[in-house]
Amino acid sequence: MGYDTIVVGLGGMGSAAAFHLARRGQRVLGLEQFALAHDQGSSHGRSRITRQAYFEGPAYVPLLARATELWTELQQASGVRLLEMTGGLMLGPPDGAVVGGTLASARAHGLPHEVLEAAEVRRRFPQFSLDDGHLGILDKSAGVLFPEDCIRAHAAAATRAGAELRWQEPVTRWEATGDSVEVTTGQRTYLARCLVLCAGPWMGELLADLNLPLEVERNVVCWFRPRTSVAEFAPDRFPVFIMEYAPGRVFYGFPALGDDGLKVARHHGGERCTPATIRRQVSEGDVREIRAILDGNLPAAGGDLRSATTCMYTNTPDGHFIIDRDPRHPNVILASPCSGHGFKFASVVGEILADLACDGQTRHPIEMFRLERLRGDAAQRKQ
Ligand SMILES: Cc1cc2nc3c(=O)[nH]c(=O)nc-3n(C[C@H](O)[C@H](O)[C@H](O)COP(=O)(O)OP(=O)(O)OC[C@H]3O[C@@H](n4cnc5c(N)ncnc54)[C@H](O)[C@@H]3O)c2cc1C
Repeated sequence: MGYDTIVVGLGGMGSAAAFHLARRGQRVLGLEQFALAHDQGSSHGRSRITRQAYFEGPAYVPLLARATELWTELQQASGVRLLEMTGGLMLGPPDGAVVGGTLASARAHGLPHEVLEAAEVRRRFPQFSLDDGHLGILDKSAGVLFPEDCIRAHAAAATRAGAELRWQEPVTRWEATGDSVEVTTGQRTYLARCLVLCAGPWMGELLADLNLPLEVERNVVCWFRPRTSVAEFAPDRFPVFIMEYAPGRVFYGFPALGDDGLKVARHHGGERCTPATIRRQVSEGDVREIRAILDGNLPAAGGDLRSATTCMYTNTPDGHFIIDRDPRHPNVILASPCSGHGFKFASVVGEILADLACDGQTRHPIEMFRLERLRGDAAQRKQ
């Protein structure tokens, strides 16, 4: 057999999986269709929020603790800054998904946090214009991950540990036969015992027969020069934030990092697409929409546009990840940890995928990511 495990897709998740597998002495082949840390998938854009009091559900909190530990280890081993702790402010109505969910997670796990009334938010963070009655929850363990550097660090560590990583080599088909898998690219066919599929927005295409209920969503990200001063939005005075600015509508942003300006985007609400059909160009209408949200909630932030890009979310119907085996082939492992909030978990997802490939099980709580829960949705799509 050529390899123990082949990893398809070396973005956020695949680069981490390749590292953890190689670190355990596996013969690993990683195949990526584009270049290292490219900007065509879901892991580009210079920054990602990480936080601990997780509004998407208290069940994620133990995974976040381990993810942060692993990011910190990787940062130390690589000597490159991967993580900057800025604190995080979760804003919105007390019973909304963001504030209500953050509080539920913080309380369930006894996480340190501060609850700020609207007037206190405006006093401590005058950049925000927050409605009376809304709250801010300050999560001091939140901050920024630098995604391209994280991927480069995982890929370099994987290579050092003996993994063979091949770039610009798209996988065109794969087949599992008994206890082996055959993976074909434009260049050749490879054999392994186990296959780990981490194809991000391309997951549906690689698993077309499974009819996974995944929807790819276009997401627009903008960087603005603040109208007042960059210093007012520097990380020492302005944390990462997520704000429910209208019922069920969420936007988020980062402090001004380096020369980039302030990065902001809506969380969901983008148009449905595929990696082939996505409108990669950012239009004036896209920018107008984001600027209007800024003007209402962070009035001094929306100065000149510095840059803008598009990125893809790969959403499940319930917003939780898929990490499981292919129900037809126990030696094929699927990872689609996205729905717009997966990057911070990439380090621990790599560990989980290595556990599943090497030991057939993991100590981490991944029951909520089982495919089974989405079976009804997949069947409905088939009709
Ligand atoms: C704009 C935006 C903002 C986000 N903000 C946050 C945030 O603040 N915090 C957070 O935690 N998460 C955030 N997310 C979500 C997070 O970035 C994603 O969950 C994560 O990056 C997904 O990683 P992935 O490895 O699944 O996908 P990707 O990184 O896209 O990797 C998939 C890889 O598979 C490769 N591939 C696909 N098909 C093939 C093939 N046939 N052959 C070979 N290679 C193939 C692709 O080229 C790609 O490199 C955000 C996402 C977006 C788009």
